[in-house]
Amino acid sequence: MSTPTETTETLAPSDFIRDIVVEDLASGKHSRIHTRFPPEPNGYLHIGHAKSICLNFGIAHEFDGVCNLRMDDTNPTKEDVEYVDSIIADVKWLISGFADTNLGLKPVGATPSAQAIEGKPDFHLPAIHGETGVKVEPFYASDYFDQIHAFAVRLIEKGKAYVCHMSPEETDEYRRAGKESPYRNRSIEENLSLFAQMKAGAFPDGTCTLRAKIDMSSPNVWMRDPLLDRIRHVEHHHTGNQWCIYPMYDFAHCLSDYIEGITHSICTLEFEVHRPLYAWVLESLDLPRALPHQYEFARLSLSYTVMSKRKLLQLVNEKLVSGWDDPRMPTICGIRRRGVTASALRHFAYNIGITKYDGLTDVAVLEHSIRSELNKKALRRLAVLHPIKVVLTNYPEDQVEELPAVNNPEDPEAGTRKIPFCREIYIEQDDFMEVPPPKYFRLRPGGEVRLKYGYIIKCEEVVKDADGNIIELRCTADLDSKTGGATSGRKVKGTIHWVSVRHAVDAEVRLYDRLFTVPEPDAGGDFKAFLNPDSLKVLTAKCEPSLKEATADQRYQFERLAYFCLDQDSQEGKLVLNRTITLKDAWAKEAKKG
Ligand code: ATP
Ligand code: MG
Repeated sequence: MSTPTETTETLAPSDFIRDIVVEDLASGKHSRIHTRFPPEPNGYLHIGHAKSICLNFGIAHEFDGVCNLRMDDTNPTKEDVEYVDSIIADVKWLISGFADTNLGLKPVGATPSAQAIEGKPDFHLPAIHGETGVKVEPFYASDYFDQIHAFAVRLIEKGKAYVCHMSPEETDEYRRAGKESPYRNRSIEENLSLFAQMKAGAFPDGTCTLRAKIDMSSPNVWMRDPLLDRIRHVEHHHTGNQWCIYPMYDFAHCLSDYIEGITHSICTLEFEVHRPLYAWVLESLDLPRALPHQYEFARLSLSYTVMSKRKLLQLVNEKLVSGWDDPRMPTICGIRRRGVTASALRHFAYNIGITKYDGLTDVAVLEHSIRSELNKKALRRLAVLHPIKVVLTNYPEDQVEELPAVNNPEDPEAGTRKIPFCREIYIEQDDFMEVPPPKYFRLRPGGEVRLKYGYIIKCEEVVKDADGNIIELRCTADLDSKTGGATSGRKVKGTIHWVSVRHAVDAEVRLYDRLFTVPEPDAGGDFKAFLNPDSLKVLTAKCEPSLKEATADQRYQFERLAYFCLDQDSQEGKLVLNRTITLKDAWAKEAKKG
């Protein structure tokens, strides 16, 4: 077992899949657990994938096993290297806290050997750590096309596969009806010869397929002579023009698992009906090594968002968001850009647990994980989003004080800093009301409030422009009321934040909120009709000067407002900050009102 480096890693989740793993280790069925995470590189990873990554890599981490990252790249028409690269970056980021997990990445250029299948029963891929500086790449199902092809030939030789010349539509129709293909009983020789021609490119797309010969009367449609290989005369992002036949998911997946020595092949519930086929392919080949077994769990569905790659692609293509990494997207890169930390995401994945029942997870659960992590880690800063100027009439014109402020009350090690204070400050427009409702404890005409880390001030005069808009408040400060002063113990009900006008640093702040206004935007109709028009507001905030030194790996709490992180659009002299999440859940309040 590894040494825990942070809180997520000390969690010891338990669920039905981990129970199986424990049993398999105890009984000696497997001496080492080997899992895999197999994305299809046809889009960016989303938070549903994060659940699967945390499960597969988490199990490897907890049980001293290995988890392979494998591109499930058997469909050349929709895949792209852009997606491959983003997937690698996202997985590495998400599992970065599993410091010593045996990440199954291989050195560039290495390919699991074909001999593994033919005669080395003890074949295991080496576990290669993905430490920084070592160039590693993931596994590719397409690296096994040769081996998968050899297995296809072996199935034909055993009379368990045949070349079928029915059209795709006819094939579907016959399978639904449980009717045998007229090509089903071709001789082994004829099948071998036709399959060789398929591979050699003799047939155009769609003319024929290789099908497993299983059982056309099976109640499980997937067992009614499913397709194994189809013809696609297209270039593949990883294998180029080497192949014009491509194995189907159901054929390639189980064999890729076998080739890599996977013990527990964990996927989402929709694959449950494919499990008999997964087992059939492996069992039909008389393979020398232990076979992997498939287990299914419920996929993550999250409220107030959509998760399917097709819909996310639509949002990107129709420019409804700024890209796959728009901070409102449920993609891993979007969530990362929003400022959510990898460990908050892993916490969330562990908290929701692994079950066999589909359901909708409340996005508030994710938000809770984010808030509790950021509360512990974020540096506190003062910033004003909607400024109104306050002049302290009894404070000397050119005096500047440096007021000490705590960086993080949750973490004494974070220390303190000094914030400059002077005669003119900004406060939040919300923190002043001319005619306040009952229980309003902030500033009002004639009323008093404490400035955080500073003095108690009293509002003496409200200055307005010709249209009646408030442009300035003129106040007096109780100059003995700051910490250590004679009246520092004086109690006033409200404390508000502020920023010195002369020292303020401008920052573009992007206030992100939920992307959709309803819990289930894709429950029916056009999901885009439910886009939240207020999911992004851009403002210029007045910030305390220390924010000039903001860094991308730090998180900040603007006191009394929200958590923020530095955005990649920031430049020398131009700060851009993203609101990760507000301090309190405004949506819950709304829901109660409604
Ligand atoms: P989508 O349906 O969103 O387009 P997909 O299932 O086609 O995604 P894959 O790339 O095939 O995406 O998924 C890789 C792995 O992630 C699979 O093992 C799949 O079961 C798992 N996975 C996909 N979506 C979710 C989800 N919402 N929750 C948990 N696991 C998921
Ligand atoms: Mg899929």
